[in-house]
Amino acid sequence: MTENPASATPVPHDSAVDEKKTRRHISGDLDTVLAEVFRFSSFRPYQRKVCESVIQGRDLLLVMPTGSGKSLCYQLPGIVRNGTTLVVSPLIALMEDQTAGLKQKGFAADRIHSGRTRSDSRQVCRDYLNGELEFLFIAPERLAVPGFPEMLARRKPVLIAIDEAHCISQWGHDFRPDYRLLGERLPILRPAPVIAMTATATPRVQKDIVQQLGMVETEMRIHGFRRINIAIELAELMPSDRSSKVIDILQNSEARPAIVYAPTRQKTEDLAGELERFIPAAPYHAGLSAETRDSVQTSFLSGRLDVIVATIAFGMGIDKSNVRTVIHTALPGSLEGYYQEIGRAGRDGKPSRAILLHSYGDRRVHHFFHEKSYPHEDILKTIHARLTDKKQTSETLRRDLAMEPEEFESALEKLWIHGGAMVDPDETVRKGHNRWHIPYRNQSAHRLAQIDEISRFAGSFSCRMLYLVQHFGDRADDGRPCGICDFCAPQKVSASVVRKPDGKEQEIISELISTLRQTGGMSTGKLYTDVSPGSAFKRSDFENLLRSLTAAGLIALTEHSFEKDGRIIHYRKAELTGKGRGFGPKEISTLAITAVPASKNDKKKASSPAKRVESGKVIRRPGAAGDGERNPALYEALRLWRMEAARRRGVPAFRIFTNKVLDNLVADRPTSYDELYMVQGVGPYFVKQYGKEILRIVKECSSRL
Ligand code: ADP
Ligand code: ZN
Repeated sequence: MTENPASATPVPHDSAVDEKKTRRHISGDLDTVLAEVFRFSSFRPYQRKVCESVIQGRDLLLVMPTGSGKSLCYQLPGIVRNGTTLVVSPLIALMEDQTAGLKQKGFAADRIHSGRTRSDSRQVCRDYLNGELEFLFIAPERLAVPGFPEMLARRKPVLIAIDEAHCISQWGHDFRPDYRLLGERLPILRPAPVIAMTATATPRVQKDIVQQLGMVETEMRIHGFRRINIAIELAELMPSDRSSKVIDILQNSEARPAIVYAPTRQKTEDLAGELERFIPAAPYHAGLSAETRDSVQTSFLSGRLDVIVATIAFGMGIDKSNVRTVIHTALPGSLEGYYQEIGRAGRDGKPSRAILLHSYGDRRVHHFFHEKSYPHEDILKTIHARLTDKKQTSETLRRDLAMEPEEFESALEKLWIHGGAMVDPDETVRKGHNRWHIPYRNQSAHRLAQIDEISRFAGSFSCRMLYLVQHFGDRADDGRPCGICDFCAPQKVSASVVRKPDGKEQEIISELISTLRQTGGMSTGKLYTDVSPGSAFKRSDFENLLRSLTAAGLIALTEHSFEKDGRIIHYRKAELTGKGRGFGPKEISTLAITAVPASKNDKKKASSPAKRVESGKVIRRPGAAGDGERNPALYEALRLWRMEAARRRGVPAFRIFTNKVLDNLVADRPTSYDELYMVQGVGPYFVKQYGKEILRIVKECSSRL
């Protein structure tokens, strides 16, 4: 078949059934169709090229951000190809919206999904077979209904459009098992071309979509990920200092309207409460009633509310064009999610900012929660072994196994997701299949890889926007730095300040440069312990220095990895550049350092350890013999608790935790799990075993202060 993409003359197609009754008369080139049928004066970037390929009959994967105009890319070719376009869409609400929109524009469109009556669905099938529909929307699970795909095949569509195509991939962030049916059922609907569309797909997901859908000689169109008006800024900050920083930033009216993302519902409420003292703000999360959410959203859209504090999982409904700032108060769970969230800033094209407040400990918090939501495979095995074909209540099972409710529920949920258990609505369970291990292992590893990915982004030292654009595999991008992020334009940052290095920083820089000169290069972790023995200089401050030195062109950082116990460990290596090798000690004081200053709203006393570094040695500040002296009550309480815990377990006290950790706990006085993670020497095991008790003791002692 020879088809001319530039002309919109109806394209003949294989169809055994009668001519369509309501044939639209189309003539002229694509611009005319665009203007006359769709009432748009010009194509948006990439739309024309995509339309041309699809009209020609090519399979095509389209990855473009939300709002960039993907729908036209199947609608226009569908009209030109002159038959029915079958659209597969995962959400009823989305289908309803799209059908209504098309009908309003005068197209013959309808939909079949579980929310419609039998007779309505039957009528739609008749209309489809009579060739009266230009667009038919279906949910993927329809394809499982016996006879339905065969019915569709009796009058083949001229185009198959798969919306939200990332749902087919278990590597995407929104996997839907129903989408898997597509790979099996699409062949009988061919030879129509397939256009798969999504706003979010990493290169791995892109490959998976193409494979799963059985697409052939697919044209890959991944475009538009560079947002030129969003200045991305990352700032390292302890969790306890973040709220006041958010208030600082948002007190400037130019930074508003704003969306702030907090990791938990409780935190959205706490932060909104604090913000409200200065600015109209409200929390927004899935735990609020529908009315409350609606009213918050309406107020935000109308401008009565300046700031919305939302959980990461819940911001999908917010579409406001003039959002000036998006702030993340913790490291998000994945880079894809993060990109989607910052994409809500500056839809109007005006300068906007995306600020991410994070710290080294955030990654550990993610690992901690990962361990909780992906229990060890042995635990799943234990449960699976107890399941039979006979129903038993999940509570009986849990008691028989003497498992903690939280652990049991999370393990059973995972077994159910991966088919190892069947859970009925009445909370009874039966045995599923035996092949759950592999998908479970894959999912768990994938989740860890996502955490690694976002951590690497946070630790990267290059243009932030370029990093994201390259991560998503944007093929049309020219690879230039954005010019406005914290790396490209450090003088314009808003969460941090640029200043000269202080005395201590000058010492560290001098030590760092001479270490690199002697060794030729070193991993940043080792470099940190070498130039700051005893970790007397905070890791986050050290990272700030590294970033500043990279920005000044004195050092170069490269990413490396190795495998250990089946896991990929990533690390960064620092080396001196030519400029760095020639850098003289006198010049150090003239460097520009990007740092996050203590907030002016922060009333809490800074809790830096009473130590300082001199010529590479750790020495105590005169008069401060130990941290115990600064808070003897807490020191004593923790020490006594440790002794008791050691006695109960029959182990020496240092096996519970060392004196050094004790000092650090007293110095840092953690008030939450996040903060506990930030304490030097504290790891996941510690938090799991003693976290609750330690936090209780700190709280009790603080209230007595
Ligand atoms: P996506 O599916 O990529 O999120 P949509 O297809 O919903 O985006 O398009 C977003 C908006 O842009 C819609 O309101 C649509 O009508 C509009 N739009 C799409 N293409 C054009 C165009 N060429 N000219 C003007 N508006 C357009
Ligand atoms: Zn940049």
